[in-house]
Amino acid sequence: MKITILGSGTSTGVPMVGCHCPVCTSFDPKDTRTRASILVEIAGKFILIDTSPDLRRQALENAIPHIDAVLFTHTHADHINGIDDLRGFHLLHKRVIPCYGSKETLDMITRNFSYIFTGASQGGYTPLLEPHQVSGAFHLFGQTILPLPLVHGYSYSTGYRIGAIAYLTDCSRIPDTSMHLLSGLDILILDALRYTPHISHFNIEESLKVVEALKPRRTILTHLTHEVAHRDSEKLPPGVELAYDGMILESNIASMTANRQW
Ligand SMILES: [Zn+2]
Ligand SMILES: [Zn+2]
Ligand SMILES: [Zn+2]
Repeated sequence: MKITILGSGTSTGVPMVGCHCPVCTSFDPKDTRTRASILVEIAGKFILIDTSPDLRRQALENAIPHIDAVLFTHTHADHINGIDDLRGFHLLHKRVIPCYGSKETLDMITRNFSYIFTGASQGGYTPLLEPHQVSGAFHLFGQTILPLPLVHGYSYSTGYRIGAIAYLTDCSRIPDTSMHLLSGLDILILDALRYTPHISHFNIEESLKVVEALKPRRTILTHLTHEVAHRDSEKLPPGVELAYDGMILESNIASMTANRQW
């Protein structure tokens, strides 16, 4: 399984508009962060998690050939507003792309972007996405995918475990019921936002406590603001790194030992 960090940035992206701080003006390309999203490749199939407002740029820069499924974490603009950029793939491949998310997430997306699901009555548009509500484990391309409810400030988001990797963006607490499903991870990609506390996100200190509890082989901290310079990665504990756009991760752990517990 190959994972590409398409976007490692918080909702503003880095650099943030109008900001002249050291990170926003840094010459290190790893300090440029588009909005958070990952791509998971399994046996030639591509699963996109979230459609960031930077999806078009991410798809071009990473030469994504097609998208076979989309998993949505929640409905904040930085995670869904690039949804229309899936149209190019649809025009090329003439396939309706299945998408997955919680009931609340899909209700909002199908309401606010109804034309994407129904096709417009005029102009000859056809539906682009097909919604699939998830509440428990499901299967895609031979892999078990486990949606994990997460607390995100005053709302909720959905993390996803795919085999021995987990993507937990936009969370301020992981309920015990989800923590129990996160043992034996090869790679954990986890929200860490910044150093100072935030009501809706783990900061770096809080993320490291999650890492201590779960003990994944490798952890990648993501959804980063301009408070965090990429060179700070050197100060993190062994096995923990900062994400950067274009980062590629490989997990060769077959479906997982933890699968037995599900
Ligand atoms: Zn976000
Ligand atoms: Zn800045
Ligand atoms: Zn959010």
